[in-house]
Amino acid sequence: MVDLAKYTKELSELMGSLDNILLISHINPDGDAVGSQLALYQYLKSNGKNVRMMCPNNLQEFLKWMDNSEQIDVFIRKRKKCIKLIESAGLIIMVDFNQPNRLGEAEKYVTGSTAVKVIIDHHLEPDNFADLTICFPSRCSTSELVHEIVTIMNGSPFKDKSYAEDIYVGIVTDTGNFEYGAYTGRTLRVVADLLDSGVNKDHVLNIVYNNFSADRMRLLGLALNQRMTVLPDYRTAYIHLTKKDLSDFSHVKGDTEGFVNFPLSIKGIHFSVLFIEKDNFVKLSFRSKGDFPVNEFASRYFAGGGHLNASGGECYDTLENTISYFLKVLEENGERLRNEF
Ligand code: 5GP
Ligand code: MN
Repeated sequence: MVDLAKYTKELSELMGSLDNILLISHINPDGDAVGSQLALYQYLKSNGKNVRMMCPNNLQEFLKWMDNSEQIDVFIRKRKKCIKLIESAGLIIMVDFNQPNRLGEAEKYVTGSTAVKVIIDHHLEPDNFADLTICFPSRCSTSELVHEIVTIMNGSPFKDKSYAEDIYVGIVTDTGNFEYGAYTGRTLRVVADLLDSGVNKDHVLNIVYNNFSADRMRLLGLALNQRMTVLPDYRTAYIHLTKKDLSDFSHVKGDTEGFVNFPLSIKGIHFSVLFIEKDNFVKLSFRSKGDFPVNEFASRYFAGGGHLNASGGECYDTLENTISYFLKVLEENGERLRNEF
């Protein structure tokens, strides 16, 4: 807490002395990225700051209901405007990521800008590309950390319904509605603040979790029934989805969210992988139970990263070759997967 108070003081001073604050979340922004970005926006706006928001690519459909989400400029859709925003920013605050490649096509503009740069994040091993890095992997979500920072700045929990909803969405999505992730007693005390601020938790949960199309449920059926391979010897299961599978079920962004968690509920399975075929690469998601570090696995073999038990990466090859490569590197980790638990 001493550290956080010190970082918050530094951040407060930057916010006080620099104008034009630009808040940026990561590529494929999830509930925590958008939640922490919108919460900071709400707080800074209410304090009369000049603040704008940007993200590298489109928001997932299930987040578009959030207050002010339409104010987030999407880099790949409004390049010129976003480059201008980056160039005119005095302070850039990046939330929920700590590697510059998570900025997608905006990377070179952001890293090359003369603005003072701040990272607020909860992932392990931050890269050194900001002037102030506030990174606490002990927090379940960036939103939890943002709430702590805002509470210190404000002198007491900031009472605002949209803000509280934003933080709540971040915490709920990064913990799978309190099923996994690094949530603690402190997280639940934050949640208590949010409920006191009037968050309608049933409403939020219905929008975030009970809002899928019938096609998405059928795609999940296909994934579990026909696209899942279980490798009990490695305590591993993986699901692969082809481009055709996605188009057969009228896939929209966000539809495969959560699929990777299902194999972990099989008895004895500790490592789960989801392969999704894209236009010229394969996107991978990794989840584990226990000590198998999927962030290390993602960064060593698939140019990715994330948390101990939840990470992602990518492979610029065909789906078939990616799976073959995965099986080869799985073998290299076989001893560990068999014996660790
Ligand atoms: P998901 O599997 O839900 O896409 O991502 C799980 C976690 O891994 C998130 O914390 C996300 O930030 C991180 N992650 C996903 N994909 C990548 C990636 O390509 N690179 C890095 N560094 N992290 C990723
Ligand atoms: Mn997060």
